[in-house]
Amino acid sequence: MRIAEVNTHLLEHVLDTAFESASMRFDKRVHVLVEIVCDDGTTGWGECLGPAFANAAIVKTYAQWLIGKDPLETEKHWAVLYNALRDQGQRGLSITALSGIDIALWDIKGKHFGVPISTLLGGKFRDSVMAYATGSFKRDGVDRVEDNAAEVARYRTDGFHATKIKIGFDPDEDLRVIAAVREAAGPDMRVMIDGNHGYDAIEAIRVGRAAAEYGIDWFEEPVVPEQLDAYRAVKAGQPIPVAGGETWHTRWGMREPIETRAVDIIQPDICGCGGFTEIRRIADLAALHGVRLVPHVWGTAIQIAAALQFMAAMIPNPVRNNPIEPILEFDRTDNPFRQAVVKRPIEHVAGVVTIPDGPGLGIEINRDALKEFSPKAV
Ligand SMILES: [Mg+2]
Repeated sequence: MRIAEVNTHLLEHVLDTAFESASMRFDKRVHVLVEIVCDDGTTGWGECLGPAFANAAIVKTYAQWLIGKDPLETEKHWAVLYNALRDQGQRGLSITALSGIDIALWDIKGKHFGVPISTLLGGKFRDSVMAYATGSFKRDGVDRVEDNAAEVARYRTDGFHATKIKIGFDPDEDLRVIAAVREAAGPDMRVMIDGNHGYDAIEAIRVGRAAAEYGIDWFEEPVVPEQLDAYRAVKAGQPIPVAGGETWHTRWGMREPIETRAVDIIQPDICGCGGFTEIRRIADLAALHGVRLVPHVWGTAIQIAAALQFMAAMIPNPVRNNPIEPILEFDRTDNPFRQAVVKRPIEHVAGVVTIPDGPGLGIEINRDALKEFSPKAV
């Protein structure tokens, strides 16, 4: 079996209502999928986190080192591709593009051996995971406090046991949002807050101290990812556990935040940090230092399936039957192609998601959706 083609599929949807985090405005959803086709017809799928067109260009650059090669040699391909762009690409788009390729190669490997990727990773510890609803962005033309509270009330009605809301805007308004959301969530639903690096350390410490009384599970990305000293100051200066990692890539990017315990919870994104090959090493590093790992997820059903395969095989720390961790990030924002790209959508039932157990990622691609949401068709 040899690699015959490396293809990218861009997906785009213009939103009816734009929304914002503290660091980004979304007026459309744009993602890129990676498809690797082998000469025997075996096909693997992956996805890249971040700017889709730029990721697609780098995936095509990497293709020259893959055509004609054995797709099962995942570790070797990772090392060769990383080395190819290493001098200018130790983090960022070169790694997000590599992540999409690595996931597609693992999908091929699973299909070749007729087992889910979790088996290749060493075996499943769990068949399902709890999911938390990610949403509550700032939306145009509505009262943010009322809008976020109403959204969280809907997640509660839908059966979710946990939700994450967006802060990092104006600290006073953010605290009003947190109070209203806790009331809408009720006392038992887990609530997490995500600053999307919108604060400086002084603001983050103030918000964390005031928000703690509302029973917050974690405070994600309080400050910009380059400032690990500021992370450590936030961790020391307020009582809520600090989370972060969606913008840190590879074992080298994760090393200092983990080793210095700049975060209580590390959040690698499998489509950003280097795919299956690298997230395993990051998980080992986190376990070595007693840092909890909760993957970041912001993509289509391909990314969700990849995260689920990894989560299935995550070694509990300590090893026991723990129904709470790991918890799956489940994006609830407007994105019609998120589940349309697969034939069987990956959905939750009462806040719980079953891990697919078919070969590879355990999904089948709906090529009609790839055509429907292709930017050329818009
Ligand atoms: Mg986040």
